[in-house]
Amino acid sequence: MQSGLELKGISKQYSEGGNQVTALDDVTLSVAPGEFVAVVGPSGSGKSTFLSVAGALLKPTDGQVYLNGHDISALPDKALSRVRLQEIGFIMQSSNLVPYLNVLDQLLLVKKMSGKVSPEDKTFAVTLLEELGLGSKTKRFPEELSGGEKQRTAIARALVNDPNVILADEPTASLDTKRAHEVVQLIAQEVKHRNKAAIMVTHDERLLDYCDRVYRMEDGRLTLVSR
Ligand code: ADP
Repeated sequence: MQSGLELKGISKQYSEGGNQVTALDDVTLSVAPGEFVAVVGPSGSGKSTFLSVAGALLKPTDGQVYLNGHDISALPDKALSRVRLQEIGFIMQSSNLVPYLNVLDQLLLVKKMSGKVSPEDKTFAVTLLEELGLGSKTKRFPEELSGGEKQRTAIARALVNDPNVILADEPTASLDTKRAHEVVQLIAQEVKHRNKAAIMVTHDERLLDYCDRVYRMEDGRLTLVSR
């Protein structure tokens, strides 16, 4: 059984005003645990659609998505929601933190959504926050954090359920260069340390050195540009 995330022959068509738009055209990609893969490409090339299919938010028109060898593209919606919550950590462009929860509670909310919160869960959440340099900020609210601290909280939140897969969609879009490097370096560090299969969509070519492989999306087709 292949572990990690595997997309095989993925196509996605949208119908728009009676026309068919091909957003993804026969895309195949495997990401093993501990691998950090970047996807670059112009606007409209299919990157968001690709990440939505990889994250089980959108069903492909054709092809399969395998998570640790199981075809998740065939699962019913309820099972898919469970897979998303347990097995996939999302890091978005803006951190999307809940304004009235402190940093630690942002993480515990995610744990609560999947069941009861144990003392071990809390210890793990604090460990993650310490790893991400937020050990002294656990009681802070989002409005008291810098942009980089918010994104670091979002990284910790993506990891708190110990998912197999991390998907990051332009995670540095709202950050200056220094913070952008810090945030991507931390994602790379966690991917290696915690053995996650990770994909990052980015416009920022300066951040690609942190990734193991770089792919380019163009007109819905994915090609390897460097490794
Ligand atoms: P990117 O993230 O690289 O900007 P997208 O995945 O958003 O690219 O879009 C790929 C193509 O699919 C574009 O031509 C876009 O217009 C089209 N598209 C995306 N979402 C939809 C949708 N919900 N309905 C119709 N067309 C869509």
